[in-house]
Amino acid sequence: MSNEGDGPGERLGRARIGLEIAGRRVGLGETRDLSLEIARNASGRSISLPFRVCRGPAPGPTVFVVGAVHGDELNGTGIVRSVMLDAPFTLRRGSLVLVPVGNILGFEDRSRYLPDRRDLNRSFPGGPDGSLAGRMAHTLFHEIVLKCDAGIDLHSAAVGRTNYPNIRADMSDPWTARLAKSFGSPLIVTGTGPGGSLRHAAVAAGVPTIVLEAGEVWKVEPSVVAYGVQGIANVLAGLGMIDGPPATPPFQAEITRTVWVRAAHGGFLRFHVAPGDLVEAGQPIATNADLLGHELGVLVAPEEGVVLGMSTLPVVLPGEPVCHIAMPAGGIAPIRRALRRPADRHVHARLRDHLATNLAVTAPPELEVAAAS
Ligand SMILES: [Zn+2]
Repeated sequence: MSNEGDGPGERLGRARIGLEIAGRRVGLGETRDLSLEIARNASGRSISLPFRVCRGPAPGPTVFVVGAVHGDELNGTGIVRSVMLDAPFTLRRGSLVLVPVGNILGFEDRSRYLPDRRDLNRSFPGGPDGSLAGRMAHTLFHEIVLKCDAGIDLHSAAVGRTNYPNIRADMSDPWTARLAKSFGSPLIVTGTGPGGSLRHAAVAAGVPTIVLEAGEVWKVEPSVVAYGVQGIANVLAGLGMIDGPPATPPFQAEITRTVWVRAAHGGFLRFHVAPGDLVEAGQPIATNADLLGHELGVLVAPEEGVVLGMSTLPVVLPGEPVCHIAMPAGGIAPIRRALRRPADRHVHARLRDHLATNLAVTAPPELEVAAAS
């Protein structure tokens, strides 16, 4: 990426020589492990958030990567740790700020939330005199986010669900859009994000920031980690911070609309699709039955789309969300064509198969009869 002058992404093109973060100065070519005092617990002990700053030998953009802003979404922590331990990047220029856990108190409790039951990711930019969540958000925002020129915030689906990896980004912000595209995710869900979310506040403050949504809580999933590390590498390569051309996805579709298919009855589900599957209008998503297998109904896709997320819990009550379907702006036909190319289909198929291992995905009843006859 090059400096395109004015606008929220202006800072990305700035050549930053001195970098002071959390009160510590990090010089060009240095790597430092630092910590940020974020709160004191009920015993009065200091709670600090560990992070690493890696600086290349030449000035350039400063990019933060943060995991577990929801404290139970450990795939992001796994991705950041993999960048640190397995795949450290050789920075040619610029700086990388790696934060394995953004919500350290939630993480300690293995919870999405903070001990005051608030959601840190609805509390940005926060303030110094507000709630615990607001104060922690304020510290994180001022000491790390605002010291950077761009960011990647790593998330997973809520408890009991999984997400096919997708980038969420405010595509109306040119630099955020460029980050989103350069990550290389086939699916980009457009939107500004919820009010109070880190990315919403960061973009509003002029720090282009994207979100990766991938996999489940309480897990570090190998294919999700590989996907996340590759995406971060793509962004850094796009910014000229590391060598190598970014990897190209088999397709890239912007999603402006999604719909949840909800259970019509309470019951036990048999799933017929997996995250990442393309579905046609009317295609069976899951069969709902009682515990002895008597069918109560079949949930179907209301229109064609891509399965973006799914419940991993086969037990439902009426109205509970079962399947999150994304409607690409150009329909699914171009995606189907792109996935027919064998080499390109590989990554998509591998991810689909991996995420499906945690779901019992079976053919719908009609197809089973057809196959048996
Ligand atoms: Zn999250």
